[in-house]
Amino acid sequence: MTVMSNSPGRAPVQPAVLQRIREAVGERGCLTDPAEMAPLLKSWRDNWRGRVPMVVRPANTQQVAAVVRICAETGTPIVPQGGNTGLTGGGQPHDDNSEIILSTARMNQVVALDLANDTMTVEAGCILAEIQRRAAEAGRLFPLSLAAEGSCQIGGNLATNAGGTQVLRYGNARNLVLGLEVVLPDGSIWDGLRGLRKDNTGYDLKQLFIGAEGTLGIITRAVLKLHPRPGDSETMLVALPVPAAAVTLLARARAAVGEQVTTFELIQRSCLDIVLKHIPGAADPLPARHPWYALVEVAGQGGPGTLRPAVEALLAEAAEAGEVLDAVLASSQQQARALRRLREGIPEAQNHEGVSLKHDVSVPLSRIDEFIARASRQLQAAYPGIRIVAFGHIGDGNIHFNPAQPVGADRARFAAELPRVNQMVHDLVHELGGSISAEHGIGRLRREELKRYKSPVELALMGAIKRALDPGNIMNPGKLVSP
Ligand SMILES: Cc1cc2nc3c(=O)[nH]c(=O)nc-3n(C[C@H](O)[C@H](O)[C@H](O)COP(=O)(O)OP(=O)(O)OC[C@H]3O[C@@H](n4cnc5c(N)ncnc54)[C@H](O)[C@@H]3O)c2cc1C
Repeated sequence: MTVMSNSPGRAPVQPAVLQRIREAVGERGCLTDPAEMAPLLKSWRDNWRGRVPMVVRPANTQQVAAVVRICAETGTPIVPQGGNTGLTGGGQPHDDNSEIILSTARMNQVVALDLANDTMTVEAGCILAEIQRRAAEAGRLFPLSLAAEGSCQIGGNLATNAGGTQVLRYGNARNLVLGLEVVLPDGSIWDGLRGLRKDNTGYDLKQLFIGAEGTLGIITRAVLKLHPRPGDSETMLVALPVPAAAVTLLARARAAVGEQVTTFELIQRSCLDIVLKHIPGAADPLPARHPWYALVEVAGQGGPGTLRPAVEALLAEAAEAGEVLDAVLASSQQQARALRRLREGIPEAQNHEGVSLKHDVSVPLSRIDEFIARASRQLQAAYPGIRIVAFGHIGDGNIHFNPAQPVGADRARFAAELPRVNQMVHDLVHELGGSISAEHGIGRLRREELKRYKSPVELALMGAIKRALDPGNIMNPGKLVSP
């Protein structure tokens, strides 16, 4: 389902404004050719599309500031864009040519590496995988890791407070940053590029812009925290009878190896089935079928094999207690990659299975079992034949709950049920003390729903912050917040 409209009905950007922007950034900084702009005007899942007269690609912070000043003076809305892998329509313009896209793609330099301080200062347009590579080259780890890491940019990661597979150990993007530089909606530059672990001098302003989805300013640089590279790791796929067993196993694993549990992903059998069907080279590593699985990784210091005895003891104890039905422990990097691929391939495999209604929710770990059981029961009662597809970063209480259309059902008719299904799932999440967006953000996708689940006080606070920083409402209007 592609959303083309949702236009707020503004006038197109005037040619004179575009000319001023062109002068500020030069020819290389402007794209107006429809063919060149086309990939930036639709979202990764192609469920959002829009139109702009120009994509602006500044070369540095000063050029970003110059463009924003022109936009502030002329009331021209700006859609910041990084790698365009966001899943909530936040980086997509509306369809009336009234906005410009400001892309950070050309601002892709590592500015400084301070190994004594364990920090790397980068421009917003650096690709996440490149940052990981540069950290590894320096003998360090930058632990943010997600399936889109070959395309997404650190500015986008911070603007969405991205999560990914290692949140359990290292936290969200929010926890991996010490300082930011931001161009504010009036075009001024806030230099908060401090590499400090302690700075108790008032409001932590950088946190305002992290997770703000480009509605409060444009992140142009960041000081990132680096970590020691683990010397040893173990990857395993564990078969489980029920989701609750995953929560018990997680507690067992943390008791055994503490913070060294880096990844803990839940996979329903239905997910494995579609991965085996659609992802080339995928193979079931266990001889029998099981209802649930956990992909677990532990990583720590010490040479290869250091963690093995603790992991083997952990699996043996869990099996004896009846919590684990079977398990495979990777014996090489290649096997570890193959196990990871089973989890990473799920979104792609789902694309081949017709319409699926996606939910990125979180609940307290203690309510995961209840959430999956009740949500599945409710949907199966309302839509006989619906296929429940649940997986996710269960160590963080984050479940991707993506029910798929019954086999052979009419695609359009099932897709039209989205609002009703959303409400059923999200009402339950809310009742269980959870969140309707665990890691993908709000963007345009969940903006209206947010009003149902956030308290009036929270909504008023968010609106007040937006109005204070962006009184002209030029920063990514129509996304996340309703000023
Ligand atoms: C296959 C796949 C897997 C994914 N897995 C995960 C996952 O595990 N965890 C997760 O959290 N997300 C995941 N995502 C979602 C997405 O990758 C993240 O949201 C990512 O952080 C977006 O980065 P980006 O550079 O692509 O941002 P974009 O999509 O370009 O933008 C996202 C939002 O940030 C704003 N923005 C971008 N750059 C800036 C900037 N410099 N300053 C201010 N605002 C800015 C945009 O306006 C928009 O609102 C996945 C996406 C895909 C396609």
